[in-house]
Amino acid sequence: MTNYAQHFSTRATPQTEQSDPRQVANSAGGYSFPVDDRTRLRRFLILGNEGGSYYAGERKLTIENAKCVQRCLDKDPEGTVDTIAGVSTAGQAPKNDPAIFALAIAAGHPKASRYALSKLGDVCRTGTHLFQFAGTVRSFRGWGRGLRRAVARWYDSKPVDKLSYQIAKYGQRGGWSHRDLLRLSHPTEHQAIYRYVAQGPAGVELPPFLDGFEQLKRCTDVRECVKLIEEHGFTHEMLPSELKRSPEVWAALLEKMPMGAMVRNLGVMTERGLLKPMSEASKTVAQRLRDVGRIKKARLHPVALLSALMVYQRGHGARGSLSWSPSPEVVDALDDAFYLSFDSVEPSGKNTMIALDVSGSMTWGEIAGVPGLTPRLGSAAMAMATLRAEPWTMTVGFSQGLTHIPLTKKQRLDDAVRMIERVPMGGTDCSLPMLVATQEKLDVDTFVIYTDSETYAGRMHPHQALEQYRQKSGRPAKLVVVGMLSNGFTIANPSDGGMLDVVGFDTSAPSVIADFAKG
Ligand code: CA
Repeated sequence: MTNYAQHFSTRATPQTEQSDPRQVANSAGGYSFPVDDRTRLRRFLILGNEGGSYYAGERKLTIENAKCVQRCLDKDPEGTVDTIAGVSTAGQAPKNDPAIFALAIAAGHPKASRYALSKLGDVCRTGTHLFQFAGTVRSFRGWGRGLRRAVARWYDSKPVDKLSYQIAKYGQRGGWSHRDLLRLSHPTEHQAIYRYVAQGPAGVELPPFLDGFEQLKRCTDVRECVKLIEEHGFTHEMLPSELKRSPEVWAALLEKMPMGAMVRNLGVMTERGLLKPMSEASKTVAQRLRDVGRIKKARLHPVALLSALMVYQRGHGARGSLSWSPSPEVVDALDDAFYLSFDSVEPSGKNTMIALDVSGSMTWGEIAGVPGLTPRLGSAAMAMATLRAEPWTMTVGFSQGLTHIPLTKKQRLDDAVRMIERVPMGGTDCSLPMLVATQEKLDVDTFVIYTDSETYAGRMHPHQALEQYRQKSGRPAKLVVVGMLSNGFTIANPSDGGMLDVVGFDTSAPSVIADFAKG
């Protein structure tokens, strides 16, 4: 007798075949659900697509993501602009580049243009952001009146001190400078500053900050430089590079140093002898890194902190010109800062299986353009945020097989990342966490799977494996898919209320996961 059900069952479909008419072919030879455009937009805004993926180049992903932004704008122009501006102003993304790109698309969209330009100052908060926008928007529209006015407003609406700071700190980027933008936009409010940008300081009555900046440019003496920094709060970008060799200068800079600059320059400050163990400067840095208010205000993102930690504890810079012995106080403070930079998590108290896709494709590309930060390593760090918050957890890695990973709450982030680095990789079967939980009779309330959803190697689809687990265990388990790549796929069945898509490295992801697990 032929067992027909062995060839076709609605409960167990091989991943290389559709289990549901809504499924689409993913890039790995399997079938996944398509994510809705709103989720894809968030993935793009938060993760970016630098370096492309294992399956698709950067260009292909950019085009797909740009088309997704356009579809969102067609459907809901204002809501989409609000999402773009919201992700940017809340500091939910490690980099502002995708938001600037998306805002430029919106500025060229007939239904969204006016509203998008009204948000220019919210998304483009620094001179560099504005230059990036100017370089991008040309692909989507011309320099019409609306755009000229919006740029003029960017300059005119700033108070003198804030505008002076922007002028001194950000000279040019990608072939754009303040002089170019002033010439195109004709703002009127701060004539002296505009004349200074166009023609230099001669014959211009300068505000004190820019006057001091002119003195700083000519300055060669450390003591004088320190005095100018103390008086005006200059940043290291504004300094002549010879003066940056001096530890006294760095000590003066540290006083008012923005948080982002501080974490990027920990190596330099250590090498210059400023961040010696037990020094006042070390204490200042450690205190600031544990100050959640400062972290939030500076929009310091977990990726920036993870990247700083990975570089700092290594003891040398990327090009090897600089080396230092890392201060343990600073390393520990960076580790703490990472967790503080997420939205605060109210633990669900549920039994949580954290499952990391460690297949080959997860080692491709880089999150937010951070060198070496692959989706695979990124998911290890993200997982630590949930692991630390929840009392009852287990962590596994899966590709074509499943490995228990003994991560502990007390583990430092860079150790966790190194541990994941050593797990062997292979093909991809995203149903394994649920299958193994069924086999091993594990009591799981929430499966949290970090993946790119490019699954193909299993004999049943992940959503079917979850269904089977629920039936056999009698537990109404949930599944959260943490998307680690800005592609268009998910393993979550959109019509199952017990499954949720969140975006990896969204600062709200750990709290959203816990809230969903709670019900
Ligand atoms: Ca894979």
